[in-house]
Amino acid sequence: MRLRNVPGAREMIAQDPYSSNDEDQQAMMKGHWQEHFGDQAPLHIEIGMGKGRFLMTLAAMNPDINYVGIEKYSSVLVRAMRKQEQEQLSNVYFLRMEAENLTDVFDRGEVSRIYLNFSDPWPKDRHAKRRLTSRQFWDRYNQILVPDGRVIFKTDNRPLFDFSLEEVRAAGWELDEYTFDLHEQGNPPGNIMTEYEEKFVSEGKPICRLIAHRNR
Ligand code: SAH
Repeated sequence: MRLRNVPGAREMIAQDPYSSNDEDQQAMMKGHWQEHFGDQAPLHIEIGMGKGRFLMTLAAMNPDINYVGIEKYSSVLVRAMRKQEQEQLSNVYFLRMEAENLTDVFDRGEVSRIYLNFSDPWPKDRHAKRRLTSRQFWDRYNQILVPDGRVIFKTDNRPLFDFSLEEVRAAGWELDEYTFDLHEQGNPPGNIMTEYEEKFVSEGKPICRLIAHRNR
């Protein structure tokens, strides 16, 4: 998601109590997320959260789970920050960072669930390793997830989804379930729609979803 540049976005994030864009500060949180939130609640993260509505909705519904939203663009992250300014949910935090560096910020077994929603497709073969469902990323998820942790991935992009199904298996993970048409019978119970999802569903595009856990 590229949005119009927001002047001063970086400074706004640097000063926000619920966000960080400072690599050193982020690295210090590794292994200390429970201390940060002040409880032992499970930690769920969304990588590429965009404007953050999905994450904020879940966080409001589930006060006993802590949520960290990751987004690489400051101008996008400040949209989520503005929602949090209104809602002030104590179980939410935002990181402006590149997902490749996940293992600098989360320790082994620190994360219980990873959400990937409408991730960038990187259609060129030579960019395959940048896709958030490439084997390189399953390897990173392996390093931060609890043993029975789950990755939940939604996309409208069928080639990316087919690639992802292959990569899950190649990485030695297992699928709990997958579908090529999540909304076939309407929005399923418990499914929180993201900004992209609402747009694609209204255009009649099928949404694919997979849920995976690692082989032990
Ligand atoms: N999840 C939102 C936005 C989808 S667009 C929704 O479903 O509505 C994908 C988002 O992921 C964009 O905002 C993009 O900037 C972010 N993103 C893509 N690759 C990323 C990466 N490697 N690290 C962090 N954020 C990333």
